[in-house]
Amino acid sequence: MLQITGNRIADGIAIGKIRITGSDKSVVKRVSFSGSEFERLKDAFVRAAERQEELARKAAYSAGEEVAQIFRAHAVMLQDELLLAEVLEALEDRNCTAEEAVRDVLDAQAARYAGMSDIFLRERAADFRDIRNCLLEILSGEAGNDGGSDESVLLAGEEITPSDLMRSTPGSLLGIITAKGGYESHIAILARGMGIPGIVCPRGIKGVSDGAMAALDATEGILYLDPDEETLAHLQAKQEALQQEAESAAEVPAEPFVTAEGRTIRICANISGPSDMTAVLRSGADGIGLFRTEMQYLGSTAAPDEEKQFESYRQVIQEMAPRPVILRTFDVGSDKCPDYLNLPVEDNPALGLRGIRLSLTMRDLFKAQLRAILRASACGPVGLLLPMVVSLREVEESKALIAECKEELKSEGKPYGDPKLGIMIETPAAVLCAEELAPAVDFFSFGTNDLTQYICASDRQNTLTEPFADGHHPAVLKAIAMAAKAATDAGIPVGICGELASDLTLTEEFLRMGIEELSVNPGAVLPLRKKLEELRGKV
Ligand code: PEP
Ligand code: MG
Repeated sequence: MLQITGNRIADGIAIGKIRITGSDKSVVKRVSFSGSEFERLKDAFVRAAERQEELARKAAYSAGEEVAQIFRAHAVMLQDELLLAEVLEALEDRNCTAEEAVRDVLDAQAARYAGMSDIFLRERAADFRDIRNCLLEILSGEAGNDGGSDESVLLAGEEITPSDLMRSTPGSLLGIITAKGGYESHIAILARGMGIPGIVCPRGIKGVSDGAMAALDATEGILYLDPDEETLAHLQAKQEALQQEAESAAEVPAEPFVTAEGRTIRICANISGPSDMTAVLRSGADGIGLFRTEMQYLGSTAAPDEEKQFESYRQVIQEMAPRPVILRTFDVGSDKCPDYLNLPVEDNPALGLRGIRLSLTMRDLFKAQLRAILRASACGPVGLLLPMVVSLREVEESKALIAECKEELKSEGKPYGDPKLGIMIETPAAVLCAEELAPAVDFFSFGTNDLTQYICASDRQNTLTEPFADGHHPAVLKAIAMAAKAATDAGIPVGICGELASDLTLTEEFLRMGIEELSVNPGAVLPLRKKLEELRGKV
């Protein structure tokens, strides 16, 4: 038995035979040049665009809107006249075949994007390779034939494209193993959307051969080749347990949970960006309780501009509507320091310039984000959440900036909404001043990860002090109860978006404290819903 490790892109277990995909079409046959080569090429672009539209329709049905967008974007690329002109020019200049012109131009585009440092732009390289393969298949008359069969297989390849996945016979793909793509790559989004387990092996898939028996544990990122009896039995049991969990979760009724006092409890999801939405929509979450917007600042070489932020917020809000979305302003600093911000090196970064205190020192950056949030708020119900608040002054300064941004947008004639304003309760100061803070805002949300770190004086990055960072410490629970009471007394809603929200041993206690919203990772929504079912009529 041989083990290959990789990065998880879509959880699950798959057992079956390997099929190596040959989607890499870098070797093209030279066919005889004829006078109609130009027309053949133009026709191939039209047909390839139609085919991508078709895949988009299929994807929208089987894997959701986000996945469908991948193929729609491909269709738009294929309708780009500049791209077609470039390929036609290559055909003329080099006196080559249509296939060679397509390969050379699209490979050059892919290489250009592959060298970019921005992760989002880098992903476009895969789009160019995907449309190149599609065009080459059409030109060679292979279109529509995926070369596979109905046999259920684990698909392995140096690169597996979204089109490879969509063209497979429904239900015939047990899992995917590829060498290219990250968690945010299109192939990863697609695999998660279609519920196909997958891993990415950045060091390649050497040793994986066609027809070999394999077992993929994508929850751990391990591919077992020729698995022994014991491994197979273990993974089969794990697969059954996962299936049972999913089935029993599906039986949980979707009626809202209402407490004896008449408060409706919302189970929401935490996300890092639009690519998490497939999982969120599947989970049946009642809203987004925390959008960690800083993740977009971390995944690039420059701060995202207003437009880019607006687009991603709008996408999430529209996909979630009419359910609410809470956008937390960028919580940069401490362990989340993008190089381009040139933040000062601090001895105690967790106690340093981070969250709202940093935002208020970088007003241009902060205002760009506030404007994006205000504009996106016109598309659905939004909460604007400030991280790491320790004083009323920070709330007032933020409100003044929000008012300034609204004035600007108004004079520019840009539509904007009126998001609810909330603060994270994640510092001891915010807990102790909760009575003064509550009347100044529309809602509270507990960041129990930081609250535990600061109350227990235990750096969450330091493994040595980990045993001291105890979310069950009476001081942490007292702090939550205290600030929750201040919120309830002031008549504002209060939720938890830190990891403690998914701690089922505390759910009942939290509901008794007056917590109305629990926001957890998408995978924890259903277990939490089941827990609430157990508590129905008791709280
Ligand atoms: C928290 O501190 O609990 C929280 C939700 O924020 P983050 O983990 O992003 O600091
Ligand atoms: Mg925090």
